[in-house]
Amino acid sequence: MNHDDLNHWSKRAADWAREYHRTLRDRPVRAPLTPGTLAAQLPGHAPETPEPMDRIWHDFETLVPDALTHWQHPRFFAYFPANASPASMLAEQLVNAMAAQAMIWQTAPAATEMEQVMIRWLARALGLPDDFSGTIHDSATTATLSAVLTMRETALDWRGNQDGLSGQPRLRLYASAETHSSVDKAARVAGFGQDNLVKVPTDTQHAMKPGALAGAIAADRVAGFLPAGVVLCVGGTGIGAVDRIRDCIAVAQAEGLPVHVDAAWAGSAMICPEFRVLWDGIEAADSVVFNPHKWLGVQFDCAVQFLRAPGRQIRTLGLRPSYLETPGDDDITNFNEWTLPLGRRFRALKLWFHLRAYGLETLRKMIRSHVAWARACHDDLAALPGVEMVSPPVLSLFTFALREGDAATAALLDRINADGRIYLTQTRHQGRFVIRVQVGSFNCRAEDVAMIARVVRDLMEVPQ
Ligand code: PLP
Repeated sequence: MNHDDLNHWSKRAADWAREYHRTLRDRPVRAPLTPGTLAAQLPGHAPETPEPMDRIWHDFETLVPDALTHWQHPRFFAYFPANASPASMLAEQLVNAMAAQAMIWQTAPAATEMEQVMIRWLARALGLPDDFSGTIHDSATTATLSAVLTMRETALDWRGNQDGLSGQPRLRLYASAETHSSVDKAARVAGFGQDNLVKVPTDTQHAMKPGALAGAIAADRVAGFLPAGVVLCVGGTGIGAVDRIRDCIAVAQAEGLPVHVDAAWAGSAMICPEFRVLWDGIEAADSVVFNPHKWLGVQFDCAVQFLRAPGRQIRTLGLRPSYLETPGDDDITNFNEWTLPLGRRFRALKLWFHLRAYGLETLRKMIRSHVAWARACHDDLAALPGVEMVSPPVLSLFTFALREGDAATAALLDRINADGRIYLTQTRHQGRFVIRVQVGSFNCRAEDVAMIARVVRDLMEVPQ
């Protein structure tokens, strides 16, 4: 295949994509498959000789779309969204065509400089002060790991990087049980050990108790641990828990500890000034992550980390061997030094296309609609006999269960997802199996969200 063939097949792909998206509502949201179904249809070896593209295309059409869960389906209400606006898809096509590797400024000046400008645009769009800079990672997990590694090295005055962790003081990290498992992973990978991630107690609103945080840090110091940092959440994955950012940061600052805030999902809503009360005090955070690839609508992958003083993260993660130097320009920004991988994609282009093609006002309207529709859906479900609302809407996320108990709730969820009209997923909250509903698909309409209560009502009536 050469570039002339690519041109031909790209047009086919564009036509296919339009048809796929036009007919998405007719497909079941979740792949109706058992594990192993697709693999069983593929040969065990790569071909020795070229295969015609017609045949490859035919196999794609017959095997792949029906074996996918459709994340861009307007009735995808599971997990959190991984949206992909058409404008951001177009930018990704151009990124694919240029196939630049943006590891240092010199290898992709446009990527580096556009990333700097997009970080500024987004900080302003979210109401963050201008002293935040930042970078774009593949995922919130990488951003949180980068922040936690920086906390570790700051606490150890960079001796961990130099000498290793053996013989260093025992480090501690603080978060509530409502934070995403990426914080647990960061604690493991950064060498804290899972047991040294202290799960600080929460109040009746599931927010970390600032007094309990202060108490845990004080007790750890007495016991000989070295507290290194605090991770707070705004919009936890399970039920959307929100820590009291201002109060918890005040505690951390009094202890001289840095704070990383995980707003991977809820951060997008901060383009609406009325929702910023949820992260009141955020301007004092050291690091904040949010995923434009979730609710804002930018194609996966795109995780933004804002940093107030990037120097500590660069000192922790940055390496500049001679083969990565830009002779004569020591102060140049090389974004690989702000993160873990050396190789980097040109992710800022899709932000640029997306923000310009829709404009912030359109995106605010979308998010406000999702929040309003989620509340209406919550009330529709609450009116169904046998349904118990477990956690109230936080932005556009809430949970419910059947009064009959966990087994009945789990069976209902199975029936919902086998039915295919909508897709919902579960979490455990205070020991209970509950069903999560989040509204955030870029293409959903009020009637798509209204269907949730209808499907639940229909399927509750199915005899067990
Ligand atoms: N933080 C929160 C609150 C999340 O909901 C998620 C994933 O859904 C993550 C972090 C991890 O995100 P990523 O897949 O970008 O690593």
